[in-house]
Amino acid sequence: MTESSSKKLDMQTRIVQSEDNITPGFASFSVPVARASTVVFPDLASMRSLVWSDDSKWRYGLHGTPTTMALMQRLAAIEGGEYALLQPSGLAAISNVYFGLVKSGDHVLIPDNAYGPNRDHADWLVEDFGIEVTYYDPMIGAAIADLIRANTKLIWLEAPGSVTMEVQDVPAIAAVARAKGIVTAIDNTYSAGLAFKPFDHGVDISVQALTKYQSGGSDILMGATIMRDVELHKKLKRARMRLGVGVSSDDASLVLRSLSSMKLRYEAHDRAAFELATWLKTRSEVSAVLHPAIADCPGHEIFKRDFKGGAGGLFSIVFDKRYTAAQVDAFVEALDLFSIGWSWGGSHSLAMPYDVRSMRTASQWPHDGVLVRCYIGLEEVGDLRADIEAALAKAFA
Ligand SMILES: *Cc1c(COP(=O)(O)O)cnc(C)c1O
Repeated sequence: MTESSSKKLDMQTRIVQSEDNITPGFASFSVPVARASTVVFPDLASMRSLVWSDDSKWRYGLHGTPTTMALMQRLAAIEGGEYALLQPSGLAAISNVYFGLVKSGDHVLIPDNAYGPNRDHADWLVEDFGIEVTYYDPMIGAAIADLIRANTKLIWLEAPGSVTMEVQDVPAIAAVARAKGIVTAIDNTYSAGLAFKPFDHGVDISVQALTKYQSGGSDILMGATIMRDVELHKKLKRARMRLGVGVSSDDASLVLRSLSSMKLRYEAHDRAAFELATWLKTRSEVSAVLHPAIADCPGHEIFKRDFKGGAGGLFSIVFDKRYTAAQVDAFVEALDLFSIGWSWGGSHSLAMPYDVRSMRTASQWPHDGVLVRCYIGLEEVGDLRADIEAALAKAFA
């Protein structure tokens, strides 16, 4: 619309066709929120020349905007990947991996300690989509080779598992998979991509629930898949397009806003969580502290070898078997500063009891006591300790 033509137009038309969203000469630190369903082409030739796999051209809001692209690039940079895709939740990112890589008749390997909804998603693929799944002992290491079949297409990893915290030997499993041409995907949410770099250990795809540390506010749901390989990126991108999943630029801008402070927050969560976990280890009520930096945790030596930059705010404690599930429930409810809720990565501390035996099918759970997962937020650590002490006294008196 030229200036002279705009003068003749009705007010309603001028409001709709306003071009004052373009502000030359204005610069700031934030990435602008580019809202779009429709992306406008200068002419039909530009529209007709579009190739779905070409990331350098805008196509439609669902496929990306300057805001979501900025977030994708930063997420890839954190883990040393080349490409990232955004999905509307961490679980949608997991689903994108399945639909991008496996079809009926294929076989998938999943660690027994995997994120619960991943297991549930896999069970659905088995029941309704003709896919075969085998759950494996997370500590299996190179012996994963014995479980690989001719039709194995995908191996999931998760290190540490986000409830029971076993640290897998990722490089050993990835090496076996690579030698057989099988794609590996790790749910790397625990480390936020900061403390563990999956591509340096031979993994093909990293999945992040940005809902956690990247968002940092317990107020956004988002996920990402990150990879180095261009062909894998194309496969996942095409599946994502066909599934019709995308994220809003508003949500992406909120994650971008939090991303610059993520490393500092992760380190603060890590310091406080390690301090509380170490103290809990001295308590007679507690039989094991499953924190990757503490020797009770299966894979502690692997954690020391492969993780650089801490464990963040998440760990679990196992209570002595003399306490009943009802007593442990009473402990969780007696906590004042720890809320009861799923997810983590925000500023508020959380606690949640789990019945681990009911969550496993492929490996023996060695503990008789009840497990409580703790997420340590950004409250003052002394206050949190006093709160736990008071709850222990109240529930186990
Ligand atoms: C939270 C979480 C997810 C899923 O993220 P949502 O955005 O809540 O769907 C996936 N994996 C792990 C390990 C998680 O903790």
